[in-house]
Amino acid sequence: MVAYMEHKDLANQVIGPERAVKIGDGVHRVEDLIRQAEGAAGRPEGSVALLAATKTRDVGEIMAAVDAGIRLIGENRPQEVAAKAQGIAVQSARRGVDLGFHLIGQLQANKINKVLHQVDTVESVDNLDLARKIAVRAQAGGLTMGVYLEVNESGEESKSGCDPDSAFDLACTLAGLEGLELDGLMTVGAHVDDESTVRRGFSHLRGLCEAIRNSGQAGTGTCRTLSMGMTDDLAWAVAEGSTQVRVGRAIFGERAFI
Ligand SMILES: *Cc1c(COP(=O)(O)O)cnc(C)c1O
Repeated sequence: MVAYMEHKDLANQVIGPERAVKIGDGVHRVEDLIRQAEGAAGRPEGSVALLAATKTRDVGEIMAAVDAGIRLIGENRPQEVAAKAQGIAVQSARRGVDLGFHLIGQLQANKINKVLHQVDTVESVDNLDLARKIAVRAQAGGLTMGVYLEVNESGEESKSGCDPDSAFDLACTLAGLEGLELDGLMTVGAHVDDESTVRRGFSHLRGLCEAIRNSGQAGTGTCRTLSMGMTDDLAWAVAEGSTQVRVGRAIFGERAFI
């Protein structure tokens, strides 16, 4: 049990109307920001998908975002996936919506089973050992798991993700594993204010994605999604070719817990 989970019932499905309106406004504001960034970069409208980063938010808050148009959500912790998955499934079925459900935070091998049948994509695969373990469980469970290779473009010690220098070879190896489909690359932008530093990492990830797709190696043709950009750097990420931004605070407000 993660400590903050004792303070908030993440399975709660009912929120007040004012909170729901605020969340809906947040979704629409972020959609506007994405459209502006697409236009500024000369990219067609709709090039960039919006994933709602839902850590610390309960089922009711998440469904308010869905009611405002969100169709893709991302959780950080397997424990939160387990706490919310059933409520989200019930509420989505009631609305007749088909939600994409990603894991965007670190996954330890002993938690793979917690998420295997709940999420369709793991964005945070950063080593071959983890990839192999997910592949084995996926095959045993009769499914194919979508994965993104997470790359630590900023080199910051606190961040997960593989070394950019080993990303190409690692991606080509993952792409060939039965039970996995390599669908893209993911990174968390450098934690600095300097635009050129942040953009350099995004730009490098884009180049990597193209190189992997053009490698001709088995299974690399599906490596299309560039998951980069969050609340504070989404416009820069869109300018550098992001096809999926992961946004939490700009939709739901500041987090009361980490
Ligand atoms: C929390 C989180 C996000 C969203 O961050 P915000 O700053 O709230 O937009 C995106 N990606 C990952 C991996 C996260 O952990």
